[in-house]
Order: sequence, then structure tokens, then C-alpha cells
Amino acid sequence: MGGLLGQTCGCASHTAGQGALKPENGGDVSANGHFNEGEPVAVLTTQPLGGTLDYAAPVGGVAEGAFVVVPLGPRRVMGVVWGPGEGGFDRAKLRRVGEVLDVAPMGAGMREFLTRAGAYTLTDMHQMLRMATRAPGLATPPGMRKVYRPGQGEVDRMTPARERVLGVLEEHGGLSFTLGELAEIAGVSSGVVKGLVKLGAVSEELAPRDVPYPALDPGHGGKALNEEQAAAAAALRAGVASREYGTTLLKGVTGSGKTEVYLEAVAECLAQGRQALVLLPEIALTQEFLGRVEARFGARPAEWHHGVTVTERRRCWKMVGEGGASLVVGARSALFLPFRELGLIVIDEEHDGSYKQEDGVTYSARDMGVLRASIEGAQMVLASATPSLESWANAEAGKYARVELTSRFGTAVLPEMRSIDMRVEGLPATRWVSPTLQGLVRARMEKGEQALLFLNRRGYAPVTICRACGHQVACPDCDARMVEHRFLKQLMCHQCGHTEPVPEACPSCEVEGKLAPVGPGVERLAEEVKELFPEARVAVLSSDLFGSARALKAAVEGIAGGAADIVIGTQMVAKGHNFPLLTLVGVIDADLGLQGSDLRAAEKTFQLMRQVAGRAGRAEAPGLAVLQSYQPEHPVIRAILSGDEEAFWRAEAEERKAAGVPPYGRLVGIVLSSPEIEDVNALGMAMARRAEPLRAIGAQVFGPAPAPIARIRARHRVRLLVKAEKSAPVQSAVTAWLAQFDWPNRVRVQVDVDPLSFF
Ligand code: ADP
Ligand code: ZN
Repeated sequence: MGGLLGQTCGCASHTAGQGALKPENGGDVSANGHFNEGEPVAVLTTQPLGGTLDYAAPVGGVAEGAFVVVPLGPRRVMGVVWGPGEGGFDRAKLRRVGEVLDVAPMGAGMREFLTRAGAYTLTDMHQMLRMATRAPGLATPPGMRKVYRPGQGEVDRMTPARERVLGVLEEHGGLSFTLGELAEIAGVSSGVVKGLVKLGAVSEELAPRDVPYPALDPGHGGKALNEEQAAAAAALRAGVASREYGTTLLKGVTGSGKTEVYLEAVAECLAQGRQALVLLPEIALTQEFLGRVEARFGARPAEWHHGVTVTERRRCWKMVGEGGASLVVGARSALFLPFRELGLIVIDEEHDGSYKQEDGVTYSARDMGVLRASIEGAQMVLASATPSLESWANAEAGKYARVELTSRFGTAVLPEMRSIDMRVEGLPATRWVSPTLQGLVRARMEKGEQALLFLNRRGYAPVTICRACGHQVACPDCDARMVEHRFLKQLMCHQCGHTEPVPEACPSCEVEGKLAPVGPGVERLAEEVKELFPEARVAVLSSDLFGSARALKAAVEGIAGGAADIVIGTQMVAKGHNFPLLTLVGVIDADLGLQGSDLRAAEKTFQLMRQVAGRAGRAEAPGLAVLQSYQPEHPVIRAILSGDEEAFWRAEAEERKAAGVPPYGRLVGIVLSSPEIEDVNALGMAMARRAEPLRAIGAQVFGPAPAPIARIRARHRVRLLVKAEKSAPVQSAVTAWLAQFDWPNRVRVQVDVDPLSFF
């Protein structure tokens, strides 16, 4: 049963057990049923009602799974016909379904997926339905509209505003915009667009709404694969051809051609006439990737992510449901699109943390993707150079197949890796580039090659301290220090985004001119590098330094073309981009991720370091990656350098097994938050005391304890952690446990099954 945690939505009015969903509604994968006029149907809406409501089928009847509008009190809300009505009411008094929407009904597989994903993540069904209908305007009828695309005409007089409009059109590769969308994204008035229409540089067309995407040709442009790639592609193709569920871990070193290989599986799926979904970390959703898809299949796929307009989002949602989109490339939420006949899901960089949604509904797109594939009889491909321990363990256990690419494509070889022992480098406390690393950078510059210095910290300095009184400037609303961003001339809280100007005087002792930065961020590192190498062209790649995707793209292309000698970057450079001239990667602080108590600290550091190192030597010239560390003998650093990945995973797996933590045990994180600290303390204590339902399944409760970040956005936060055996029925136990308590509306309870972070 799904969605019994009424409390998680902050709605006090509904309680556990109400409106339970009948499992047989979701469990039946056969064709949708049909209900005749007047028959009672159960409708699941996007409103917090604790279950379905009965309505009478409208004139002409209604199909099971149909999207409908129903009256709810004085309002009209969207819902889905979930199954036969529960009955028990006077039929004559049932309100009627108001309208059946002109979109494809939700299939039985999708309904089962939402039900089971809701049950797993302890999410109310109305919230699951909201995730599945994130496309505005579904209820508006189709019609004609004016759209804007690139035109043929010349622009006699180019202005910055006009250039932005043309840039947006070019960047979105022929997708159409409404006037409002185009003007807004380009940051111009609609008059500018109209002016360009007059010149013919932008064409204005009358288009039917929501047209299908161009057909993709699976035989269009496949590359000749090398032997290892061909074997891997054959294995993936065979999986798709079986038309049955199966998950394969596609493990391949960076640059080995994983993308080329999984595009072959996509080709097989397209040839079958089924749909494919490729998920990428948001940051890797670049035009570069879409260009590769176009080169392979002759046309661009449907896109689903933050960067696409509302118009295109609705088109994508509808076409996926109708079968007018055969391939979707998207971010994690694309998993909730209403695919009609899904044959393949690919999750690229499957270890990436961005596949876990941490706010609102907490879910892992990787784990829920496997669930969806199993329901749809589809294949799942998890691709990575550094898989998550979860996926590695599943492959070890034989639950996933494993396919490997062991060498880089062509002549490129994997970079050599070394550490620099910072204890003997004798650096002053305000310097971060060791003499050894300086020498390596200089040698690259002399050869006309590029160096990347990696530091996973945005801004100028992570801490600003008063040298008169020792005060550290903190966010007024969070238990977090303000980070100086010198480029933007402000202090910023990385928890809530609060910004303020850098003060002249200390906010605590009011002495002037004594505030000083402590520690490095990329901006400060750039300052040091410019001093060390005054003749070098230095580029800083940090997500906060670019106003638009276009500006970032231009910077990346510039670097790839050789416009910089030294690149300084945060996590965003670790994946996706290909810099052929880059032969040296220097990690400024390899110890950074090893501090703290995160159970995945070793795994995450291992993955990030190997990923960053993989940026070096992607073309002919061999690469070198060096890690600056104060503890080069640390087992994780040693494992990163040795390159013996299997040994690292085995050791890490043993430790987790011994500790009974994921992937060998199960955790559920609970965060209580409230503006009043007494609320969360009292509730936390009560929950720890009354944990019988958890003890009944052999689970333990830890806490309550103040969360590592004890206050965010002026809410106090307390954590509890439930630890259970992998096979224990933890969802039902947690549900029964939470149902024992009442709490004020201002208290929020976030339940996170399989938490990834513990802030
Ligand atoms: P990965 O995803 O494993 O990092 P990619 O698929 O991005 O690797 O491949 C790395 C580079 O090598 C890309 O530029 C890709 O186009 C190229 N490449 C890989 N395999 C082939 C092939 N069989 N023929 C031509 N180019 C290839
Ligand atoms: Zn804050």
C-alpha cells in the first residue's frame, strides 16, 4: 500500500490507513478496463485526500487510467481513473467526472510503478501523481499557436539584445518557442523578437500544438566498434532483444566508449519500435551529448530537464504517452514520464549523487529506475567508470549482469597517478599549490599543453574570521558559515542561498578592517595561480560564475580550443567535458572528502578522484594526475593511486558488511524540523522511546541528535536513524511507528529511505 504517511505532506487532516489503495489495481498489467456512464470509478487526484475518491463515469464512459478533471468541493482538480469505485455509496449521489482530458490514459504499468515507488519511499499517492504530471497545461485543449524558430534573413544592425535572441535559438537547436518564452529566456522585450521577425532572421510560424518528434533512424550512423566495444554492445543488444527485464552494469574506464556502446542498445530498442530513456546527471545534459545522439540517429531526441521550456515539456510529456517520442534524454524526473512502451532505460554515470532527490519526495532514480524496468519488462543499463558500491555488490551477487570496457578508445591511455606528500612541501598556510605541482604545471605550459587544478569549493574562502575577536561570519538563518564570493562581491550561505555584502566591520565586536578569509575556494586559488604564473591564461569553471548555460558553453568550448593554459575548476569539471589539450590534473586537496563521518566518504572520494583524473590525457598525449595530500598513506588515497579498483570495492564491501550498513543493511533517515527547538527535541525523544514497531522487526533506532547542520532556513533540525536488516519490512514498521504520534503543523517530518547524505 502506498502513501500512508499523511504526516509527511504536512497535512494534519488525514491519517494512516485511510483510503488504502487496492493492490489489484496496480498489479494487473493487462489492458485497461472501461467504465460505462454512471458506473462508480475510483479517482486518484493530486490533492492530499489520503486515497482515491469515487465518482460516476461521465457520458460516453471512461477508460481505466484516463486523465480526468473532477469536482472537489468548489474546485476542479486533475486526477486519474485508478480503478472501479469502492462503492458503498448511494450511486445517485455520486458526483460525476467533469471532463476526460485529451491525453493518452495512464497505463497499468505506470500505475503499478507509482504505487510501488510510493510504498517504497513512503510517499503519499497524491504526491506520486504530482511527480507524474509535471507538465503544465495538460488540461488545455490542443489548438494552433505561433512558434518562433531560426530564420534565413540577415540582420543589418546587430545589437546585444538581438544577439541574445539568436543565441537562444541556436543553443536550443531548432526547438520552438512561444513569443513569451523566447523573450524571457533571452532577457529581451517581445519587441526585439518581433523586430527580428520583420527582418526574417527569426521565423514566425503557425504550428499545431505538441507535434511528434522526428523519427530516429537506428541504422543512421553507427561507429565501427573495436572488439571489446562490439562484444559489450552485442550483450546489451541481446538483453533488449529478449524483451524481458534485466539490469546490466556497464563498467568502462573514462573514454572507453560507454556512450557509443549503450547507444547501440538504444538502436536495438528503437528498431523494435519500443521507447528508450537515457538519464544523465543534470550537468552533463549538454548540447554536446544531444549532438552525439543526432549524429547516431539522424535527429534529436526529446529532452526533459530544467533547461527546456514549459511548451516543450508539455510536448514531451504528451508525446511520450502517445508514442510520438521514441527516445527521451533527461534528468532524473524523466523517470516519471508516462511511457507507452518502454524497452530500455540507461542511467549514465549511475554513481552520481544527483540521481537521488533529497527534498520533497526523496527517491533514487537509479533504484526506482530498476523497479520501473522490472515492471515494464524493460532492460536497464547502469553505466559508470566508478560504479556505486550498491551496483557493484548487485553485480557481485549475480543480480545484475556485468559488461566491461577495460581500455580507452584509440591511442589514448589512462593517466598515470601519483601523490604529492604535502608534509614535506613546506607551504605557508595561505598557499595551496605545492612547489612540485608548480613545476609540473610549468612543464605543461612550456609544451603548449593544459593543466587542470581541481578544488571542490566554490567562492573565494569557505570561512571569514575576525582577527580581533575570532568571530566567524555565519548565516542568520542556518547553522552554516558564510562563504565569501569575491567575484560577486558578497558573502553567501551555501545552505539557503542568503547573500549579504562583505561587511567593513566585524558583526560581533565591530572592529573595522579585521575580517580575513580562511582557507581556499577556487577564486582564491585563481589569485595564487595568477601570481605564480603571471604569463598564463587562467580560466575558472565554477557553476556560480556563469550567468547562463550559453556563457558556460562558450567558456568550455574556448578551453577545449586552447584558450586557456590553466583551468581551475570545481566538481562541475569532473564529468562530461572533453579537453583534448589537457594532460595534467592536480587535485589541490585530496583529503577534503575524507573528513567527516559520512559512511560513503571513502566511496565518494574514490569516485570523484578517479573521475577528475580521467579528464587528463583523453587524446594522444599521455596524462598525469597528482593528488596533494597530507596523508598519502591513507588506504583510500593508496587505492585511488594503485588503480586496483576491485580491491578497493572488496575492502569497502567488507567494512560495510561488518557494520551492517548499505548495501548490506538498510537505513531510513528521519529529519524533524521546526522553528521551535522544543518541538523537535520532545518529538525526537518520544520517537526514540516508543520504537516497539521497529524493535518488532529487529531494527535499531539511533538518536535523536541535532543534525550536522542543526538549523536551516530558521528551522531547527533533529535527526533519527533507523537501521535494519536488508530483508526486514522496514517501510511498514516505520509507518506504524510514525502513526503513534501527533505533532503540531509547524513540525515537518522528512522520511528518507536509503539516505545518501546525512546533513
Ligand atoms: P565514455 O562514455 O566511456 O567516457 P565515450 O563514449 O564518450 O566514452 O568515448 C570517448 C571518445 O571516443 C568519444 O569522443 C567517442 O566519440 C570516441 N569513440 C569511442 N568509441 C569509438 C569508436 N568505436 N569509433 C570512433 N570513435 C569512438
Ligand atoms: Zn543560510
